Amino acid sequence: MNYRHIYHAGNHADVLKHAVLALVIEHLKGKDAGFRVIDTHAGTGSYDLGREEAQKTGEWLGGIGRLIGPNAKPMPDDIAGLLAPYLRAVRTWNPPGLLTRYPGSPRIARALLRPQDMLVVNELHPDDAAALRRAFANDAQTKTLMLDGWTAVKALLPPRERRGVVLIDPPFEAPGEMGRVVDALSDAVKRFATGIYMLWYPIKDRAVVRDLERRLETAGVPKLLQVELEVSATRHGEAERLTGSGLIICNPPYQLDKALGRLVPWLAGRLAVSERSGRGVVKALL
Ligand code: SAM
Repeated sequence: MNYRHIYHAGNHADVLKHAVLALVIEHLKGKDAGFRVIDTHAGTGSYDLGREEAQKTGEWLGGIGRLIGPNAKPMPDDIAGLLAPYLRAVRTWNPPGLLTRYPGSPRIARALLRPQDMLVVNELHPDDAAALRRAFANDAQTKTLMLDGWTAVKALLPPRERRGVVLIDPPFEAPGEMGRVVDALSDAVKRFATGIYMLWYPIKDRAVVRDLERRLETAGVPKLLQVELEVSATRHGEAERLTGSGLIICNPPYQLDKALGRLVPWLAGRLAVSERSGRGVVKALL
């Protein structure tokens, strides 16, 4: 387990994942009944952007740094509305007008919950799992676990509330992880058919993404929305560069496709590495 999220916290991939997660949680809040957020690969929960690792890559400058903080340009009102829950969660971790810390998915989800909702966060790396446990030690609404993420998906479904969202966000450092996420998703849907699932994937090589799409088609998981945000062109033979990322959303909330159809192309323009190198796509996959 070499992957450490501190190097990437707040980058373009986090922006996409967390902005969509926040919109999904806001949709779940449309009913009074409580729901559960399950984060199978949770990281540490929040990241100090002044730390050497984050400063070394500076990835957050091309992500969240273009949306809030001293160097961010204004945004149109409708985009500000769509990003409001996400950016509200980020701002609670920062002094007014500044950007010094980035909340990961556990902290973003937690900031948006009501008293009747629950959060389960799971992380396998011993140091990160310990940090996560400390961060939520006195929080009765959050349960922290240190399981293999793939075991966690099985063990935690269906949730008691029978409503909720599952974020599956592995580091993709092990070979065969694309196959594993599809197996996990198709198994999870059998256990909890009405759950909303968000599966994150990196875009480095189009052939790998096509393989993911083929596997999903073969698995026959219904109601899938695919969302992609690329900040630079994805070429063959450059498979080490993260040029973008995608989300497969199973059972997407009503009209999420419409909201993302406006938001994601705008984000692609704002986060693009160079003028016109951004690409934002939202489409039904199955
Ligand atoms: N979800 C986090 C967020 O959005 O802030 C980021 C998670 S990061 C992309 C992936 C995390 O998965 C890392 O913290 C890594 O230590 C953890 N991890 C790696 N293998 C795992 C496994 N088999 N089970 C659970 N967690 C794992």
